[in-house]
Amino acid sequence: MFRAWNYGAGPSTMPLEVLEEAQREFTNFQGLGLGIVEMSHRSAEFEKVAYEAEALLREIMQIPDNYEILFEQGGGRGQFAAIPLNLLPEDGFADYFVTGHWSRSAYKECAERYGKAILHECVEKNAQGEYFIDYSKMKVTEGATFAYVCLNETVNGIEMFNLPDTGNVPLIADMSSNILTRPIDVSRFGAIIFGAQKNVAPSGLTISIVRKDLIGHARKYCPSVLDWQVLSSYKSMYNTPNTFSWYLSGKVFKWIKDLGGVSELERRNIQKSNLLYDYIDGTDFYNCPIARADRSRVNCVFTLKDESLNQAFLERAKNAHMIGLKGHKVLGGMRASIYNAMPLRGVEALVDFMRLFEIDHK
Ligand SMILES: *Cc1c(COP(=O)(O)O)cnc(C)c1O
Repeated sequence: MFRAWNYGAGPSTMPLEVLEEAQREFTNFQGLGLGIVEMSHRSAEFEKVAYEAEALLREIMQIPDNYEILFEQGGGRGQFAAIPLNLLPEDGFADYFVTGHWSRSAYKECAERYGKAILHECVEKNAQGEYFIDYSKMKVTEGATFAYVCLNETVNGIEMFNLPDTGNVPLIADMSSNILTRPIDVSRFGAIIFGAQKNVAPSGLTISIVRKDLIGHARKYCPSVLDWQVLSSYKSMYNTPNTFSWYLSGKVFKWIKDLGGVSELERRNIQKSNLLYDYIDGTDFYNCPIARADRSRVNCVFTLKDESLNQAFLERAKNAHMIGLKGHKVLGGMRASIYNAMPLRGVEALVDFMRLFEIDHK
């Protein structure tokens, strides 16, 4: 079967086994004579699929009982609004620790529409000209309602491997692109939000993991579909959920459990990203602009030292059936997204390709 290597940042590659299983069931789910996308979300069959997915996520992430798991729509950006609307009183304020494009977007959504947000710029350049995270900037302001971080900056290729100590101030994290790529101590967070389309399932599904005491404080005008209390009391079926993405996410959670869980994925992700970064660091043809300790394991950002070769690089990659390597429009350069579903072979293929391209253009 023909499959390209897809290094796109999202929607992104999914485990082939999962796609094939879904394909087999697509027109006739469990002998019912109809497909999952044709089925009522309130049917007993779909409810079973949905809540089994939820239970599996709780198991593989070891989510404590005092956290709710909510299946929503509206994407990461929907949650950029939902977070202040659910948590921030009109006269309150929140700290935003900005490390790149997505935390900045979340900051703007809060500051421009919903209330006071304090911007903390937390990325700086070192003497080698590399970007790094300055964790000493992540200090909560006395009286803040919450502190906000993005654990993996998908666009910038920067990942937080440390967490700020926010004391009693709940830490809210966007993990859209690194969820399930390594074990996370959920109890360190007030809420974790992520869109499914990077590491889990197709787009159109957003999952929020929220500590129960933070539910029930939404502003009166918070749309019901974003109100964590409403979603929680309707078990995420207040309105029609994205049934297809929810169903596929359950299959991916099962795939993760069967392969050995999140810690096995962490081992693989370290191996994959080291392979790529070691190669880049060992040549002066390519460059990674991020300090090694803060490099994302899943979104590897790099440039060609001779930028005039960018187009040739992308064209030759496409001819080799390697797609999605073009960097985000705000940064330029290249980006290889190597999420959980990208096998080691896919990274080996990329490194081989980069090496050949280098040889031919030296
Ligand atoms: C992709 C992404 C988003 C935006 O998600 P949408 O579903 O397009 O709103 C937000 N945060 C991070 C970290 C992302 O990677």
